[in-house]
Parts: sequence; structure tokens; C-alpha cells
Amino acid sequence: MPPALLIHNAHLYSAVADWQPGWLLAEGGRIAGVGPGQPPDFAGRPDLRRIDAAGLDLLPGFIDLHVHGAVGHEAMDAEPDGLRAMARFYARHGVTGFLATTWTASGDAILRALHAIRPTLGLVPGGAALLGAHIEGPYLNPARCGAQDARLIRRADLNEARGWLDTGMVRLLALAPEFDDNLMLLDECVRRDVAVSAAHTDASYEQVQAAVARGLRQATHTFNAMRPFGHRDPGTVGAVLALPEITGELIADNIHVHPAAMKILVDAKGPSGVILITDAVRVAGLPEGEYRLDDRLVTVRDGAVRLPNGGLAGSTLTLDRGLRNLRLATGRPLAELWPTSSLNAARAIGLAASKGSLEAGKDADLVLLDPEGHVCVTVVGGEVVYEALATR
Ligand SMILES: [Zn+2]
Repeated sequence: MPPALLIHNAHLYSAVADWQPGWLLAEGGRIAGVGPGQPPDFAGRPDLRRIDAAGLDLLPGFIDLHVHGAVGHEAMDAEPDGLRAMARFYARHGVTGFLATTWTASGDAILRALHAIRPTLGLVPGGAALLGAHIEGPYLNPARCGAQDARLIRRADLNEARGWLDTGMVRLLALAPEFDDNLMLLDECVRRDVAVSAAHTDASYEQVQAAVARGLRQATHTFNAMRPFGHRDPGTVGAVLALPEITGELIADNIHVHPAAMKILVDAKGPSGVILITDAVRVAGLPEGEYRLDDRLVTVRDGAVRLPNGGLAGSTLTLDRGLRNLRLATGRPLAELWPTSSLNAARAIGLAASKGSLEAGKDADLVLLDPEGHVCVTVVGGEVVYEALATR
């Protein structure tokens, strides 16, 4: 267990209010206490490590539900060491928990990726915690494939999918809800408490409504690879904007989505209805240039990852930058926006009892941000895994 940790003089965003100053005590991996003003006198506790936050923003650690890779690795590589390297990179950007996200591939390749997650699950030394798997594809609509391999996109095969779900690693599964076979899998996921997201879809408003009635609760990278909004055909985007049951993922990199569209999404859903994700791929955290992404070449330039045809192939986004972009796009304060990078994600995958907000009893997953939103300290399970205070 890490030593007990006291963070004081923070601008603390708690579940009930933001406190300036506020304090938080982490002990045994959990939040032992949190409150406004100055902390109680812990004079009898020489074991306490104290961090004077000097007014920095203290938020719940970020949770990235949709992230494929970073620093040369990807979930589809099916290598535990690669997952650990990813976890360490994400922690530098404030992430304390993530779902390793697969993409369209053969059933066996996806199963191998899930088997690599099992030994890595939970705390990763020096990194974000691996919370499980997110299966994005292959049960998508080829008409909205984006960078997913259209040749391998297919209708849901319940037997194949049960093999994945039986690993117990899957917390989120993304599918196109306009196909009957896929709706059968949606039902199976709901029975197993696995969250389902509408992804790479050409679903009409009515088709999304029907899927919501069966338990669909999320939309994958809202606006990207989905039927757009039209005033006579509201499409998938219209359903995300209109239906309160759906929480919309958002890639807030200013490349996948215009800042005005980000503002429209947050204004329509409220901050509780939006989940920041990165959709980052292998090249995140690497220098710009040309890289191989599965069997295709991609070019990374000005932060964008593009296929030879110009289409986007994931991002190089980090969640700290996403939150900075969302603040600028919406003009809203952190007091409103903090759930978009933590609590909403924890809720979406059924982990809000232990993660996602600064409350006593929850896991001590924390991030300290400077006024510009850059990460100064990341704490996972009460342990400081990243610290850049000295360089400020
Ligand atoms: Zn996608």
C-alpha cells in the first residue's frame, strides 16, 4: 500500500460543490476524507505525505473509455507489456483508468487481445488502472466504417461474441444498432450488464429510439462515423442530441469535431450527458511522421492521423487536452465540466460506486491541474504515479 497522502490548498471539485480551498486525505488506496477549508490537524501522523496544491485544481482522475493505443502499442497487439506502456503514458495525461479498446478484426484476433488484458487488469505500476475492454467493431455498418476495416465488418454472430463476453473482460461493446442481428447481441449484453454504444452507424432516429428501448445507453464518438443531423431526418446525431437516455462520447481534439459542434452537444445534453474520450491510437505520444497502422500506412501531421485517402484513423489526443479544448469550446467552468472526464464514464460502465468523484470511500484516483489544464500530479489508488510539480 502507498503511504497516506494529504492534498491541501486545492481548488477541489467534490461531488457536491467546488471548494477553494479544499483538502483530501487518501489512505489504503481510497479517499479517507475530503472537505472544504483547511484540513484537520494531522500532527500525530508523521507518515502522511503532504502535497500543498497551492490553488491547483483537484479533480477525479480521468477515465478514458475509448482508447486503442499509444507510444507504439495498441490493444490489438495482445501484449501485456504494451498495455502497461500505454497505461504509463495515459497517467502522464491525468488518466487513472481506461478501457483497452479493440477494433474490427477477426474473432480470434479480438479474443487474443482480451486474453492479454486479463493478466494486466487492475492497477498497473506507474500507470493508469486497466479497467477492462471495450470492443469497437466488427458489428458495424460498412457505410460508416471510417478507419475500421470494411472488409471485416459483419453482422453480429452471437456465438462469436459470447466467446468474447465469456472472458469477463468486456465492459463496453460498440455496434451499429440498425441491424436485427446486432440488436440480439444488444439484448445479450444488457443481460450481462455490459454497456452498449451505437457506433459507426447509419441508424435513423427511430432505429436509435428502438435500440434505446432495449437498453442502448451510449453513442460512440458523437458526430463521427454516424448518420448526421437533418431537420427532416434527425438521424443518429439527432437521436443522441434529443434522447436523454444516451450519453455521447466526444473526441474533443478540434480535428474530429468543430468546437461549435462540441458546444452544441454539451448545451443539448448538459455536462452529465457527455463523455470525453480520446480514440487515441498507436501513434499517440510519438513524433509526427509516417507509421504503419495494422497493414496500412498513416501520416501523422498537425496532430491528425490520416489514411492515404485523407480519412481520419483515430487520434493523438490526450484527455487533458480534450478537457482544455472542451472548456474553450463551451466557455463553461470546470465546476460544470469535470464530470465529462471522469464521473460520466464511471457511470456508463457501472463503476460509479467506486470511481469518478471525490467522495470518501471511493478509490483515490486523482488529478491536479494547473490553471491552463496541464497535468501536475496523477494519483492512482492513492499512489502518486506522475508528478510534474517541480517543473512548474
Ligand atoms: Zn470508431
